Amino acid sequence: RSKCPRFGVDRMKVYLDMVTNQPHQSGRHFLQIPGPTNVPDRILRAIDGATIDHRGPAFERLAMRVLSGIKPIFQTSDPVLIYTASGTGAWEAALVNTLNPGDRVLMAETGQFSTLWRSLANKLGLDVQFLSGDWRHGVRAADIAAALAKDTDYLIKAVCCVHNETSTGVTSDITAVRNVMDELRHPALLMVDTISSLASIDYKHDEWGVDVTIGGSQKGLMLPPGLSFNAISNKALQIHETAKMNRSYWDWTAMLAANKNGAFPYTPATNLLYGLDEAITILEEEGLKNVFRRHARLAEATRRAVAAWGLETVAQVHSEASNSLTAVMLPDIHNADTFRAIVLERFNMSLGNGLGRLAGKVFRIGHLGAFNELMLAGTLSGVEMGLSAAGIPHEKGGVQAALDYLSSS
Ligand code: PLP
Repeated sequence: RSKCPRFGVDRMKVYLDMVTNQPHQSGRHFLQIPGPTNVPDRILRAIDGATIDHRGPAFERLAMRVLSGIKPIFQTSDPVLIYTASGTGAWEAALVNTLNPGDRVLMAETGQFSTLWRSLANKLGLDVQFLSGDWRHGVRAADIAAALAKDTDYLIKAVCCVHNETSTGVTSDITAVRNVMDELRHPALLMVDTISSLASIDYKHDEWGVDVTIGGSQKGLMLPPGLSFNAISNKALQIHETAKMNRSYWDWTAMLAANKNGAFPYTPATNLLYGLDEAITILEEEGLKNVFRRHARLAEATRRAVAAWGLETVAQVHSEASNSLTAVMLPDIHNADTFRAIVLERFNMSLGNGLGRLAGKVFRIGHLGAFNELMLAGTLSGVEMGLSAAGIPHEKGGVQAALDYLSSS
């Protein structure tokens, strides 16, 4: 037990008690991690349908519907491929479909997920130029510009950014990155991970000139984990035709050919596609603009609560603070995982843990997906009560500050 890398001995005991002896807790669990998010009942009911023949006409209609219905969510008219995979698979798909062995890619360190994408690229044998960051800011377009300006032989074949860094709650300005690429007339592809921003924070694949957008099902789309996406520009498709990295499962060509006829090159996740169909309908009913506005409002209320508690967010610049999650720092002597364990045990609420170098130092409040004001009020109440229960010094009134903002805005 003492060797457990994530929990010390005492915390390990709290954790083991939690998972083995957890008594029944009345009411609904609060899943306030920044994904997977709460799956609405409408989507659960849709997934509940009988699995059908994935080579029959009913499936073909479903596939055609979701393949076209997903495009407006990426704000694109480009093809969007749907993989049966978590987001990591779509990261890999973006790279292996467009690059040649040993190609150089420019990646910006924004937190744990940019770091994981880098290590995936390294494992694929790509030559990663990694622009270091402090995990409290978004991608610095000036750093991208400096790196590209030096690359006079155009050895950099792709610039890869995480739009919303889920480990820190910081959103990056993708248009600023596109602008410096355009100013320098650099031909690299622009690839953007929108796994925790898609359908939560405004993102425009076409207008922002992104070549490959990577998305996932388990966050703003309100689905369970298991689907991920590549939206693909015409330029990326052309480069794909001669790109030589090994690929099989992820091959765009095979997918695109099958998708033309409402099919997949292998057995698709039929029931998750029922869920996706319903998620698209739900998002259409609310309207994407309203979805973004709702997320912005709930995020601002959360930030006001954190400020009123006298705590600090990981995001240092207000304009970069994420609308899908807020990462909150605790004073050094308090372990964020102990706090989270107390909140789970006392209030039946899961908060996100600190990842990578932020492990034990921060907790993350997910406020994305199927989420509303009263759910946020409950979430913030759980946090505020948890801070008291854990003996973490804080000011009272965070929940009130959030409620005041929500009722006046
Ligand atoms: N990128 C971001 C921004 C993420 O938040 C995640 C997961 O949370 C990933 C990539 C990896 O996706 P997955 O865990 O679905 O493979």
